Amino acid sequence: MLIETFIRKQLRLKAHTVTKVEETDQHMLVQIDRLGQRLLRCGVCRQRCREVHSVRPEREWRDLSMRKLPLLLRYRPRRVECPRCGVRVEDFPWAEPWARVTTALAQAVATLARELSWQGTAREYGLNWKSVATIVKRAVEYGLRHRARPPVHVIGIDEVSRRKGQVYLTVVYDLERRVLLWVGEDRTEEAVKKFFTEEMGRRRCRTLRVVCMDMWAPYLNLVRKHAPQAQVLFDRFHIVKHLNEAVDEVRRSLWRQLSVKERANFKGTRWLLLKNPWNLKDSQRERLSTLVRWNTPLVRAWYLKEAFQLFWTYRQPWRAEQHLRKWMNSAMRSKLEPFKKFVRMLRSHLDGVLAWTKIRLSNGAVEGMNNKIKSISHRSFGFRSATHFIAAIYHCCARLPLPVER
Ligand SMILES: [Zn+2]
Repeated sequence: MLIETFIRKQLRLKAHTVTKVEETDQHMLVQIDRLGQRLLRCGVCRQRCREVHSVRPEREWRDLSMRKLPLLLRYRPRRVECPRCGVRVEDFPWAEPWARVTTALAQAVATLARELSWQGTAREYGLNWKSVATIVKRAVEYGLRHRARPPVHVIGIDEVSRRKGQVYLTVVYDLERRVLLWVGEDRTEEAVKKFFTEEMGRRRCRTLRVVCMDMWAPYLNLVRKHAPQAQVLFDRFHIVKHLNEAVDEVRRSLWRQLSVKERANFKGTRWLLLKNPWNLKDSQRERLSTLVRWNTPLVRAWYLKEAFQLFWTYRQPWRAEQHLRKWMNSAMRSKLEPFKKFVRMLRSHLDGVLAWTKIRLSNGAVEGMNNKIKSISHRSFGFRSATHFIAAIYHCCARLPLPVER
């Protein structure tokens, strides 16, 4: 078989043919031409058109390599007279209208970019970073247009920070199918509204049963407005995070209360606690008693934190609620301001906290995906803009279909 025939078959050309294949140092040049008077298709609506209006200057497309040599397709596009669209550039069976690479190469690049950084993918295919970015973005646009949209019942809303908490993104997962549904810039009500109005729409919002999230007012407002029937469940890991922050706040405020001299005294006093009391000198005994006094609030904080965790283990809702109410009362009496603040937060969100016992779901179900997003953000130093980062997240987590060769 001639190489021309081989390439023609590989590209599945019908109205076109390969006229010549030349080898250079860097490429295999594949010359393509129209095949006789076969009808060409409109690049917009793909309808067959009778009339060719004009011939455009030659264009080039990068294709997959043959052994080590990349194929370079060359062709002079025709402009056709489409009865529906008017005069348009024809449809290319080997590439999308906008593309400078063939669909086959774009598909290979997009597949690798799910595993590798864009930089690494570019190196692998001898392209530059920008080309990879364009390919991935187009693939994501295609995937979002063509992905299946089954009814969604249980979602998790979470935030991802970029640049060490300077910029936030909001991600929404389908917790049943464990797939990313949506990602958008920021975490304001205005920004996340798009998920409910554009991605979901009113009809699909109605099937939502559970929404798992942090106690974050904008998210809560949105759910109440767009999916009032859904049960809000405050995410276990976020609640524990707030609890740990309360402990830490107690620790830090104790540290702040100490004078510089006291701090110096406390440095290296941990071993005092390990020593047998009868071996202590007077000065050491004094230091130890101050240390214990200093530590009491911290001990209380630790105890409260540990006691709270029992809440997750109850199977019966009334027992869980009883535990939580008792715990909140003792935390209010603890004289620890951060814990009082935490209790006030729980009280105003009680229904969504107690929902845990019945639903037993958390955004932890998609922790793998969360880690993936973190690693995407780490490996992609080129993502100075959120749009690239968002495209990469969709590409790796949303299980989008890739453009197929026609
Ligand atoms: Zn048309």
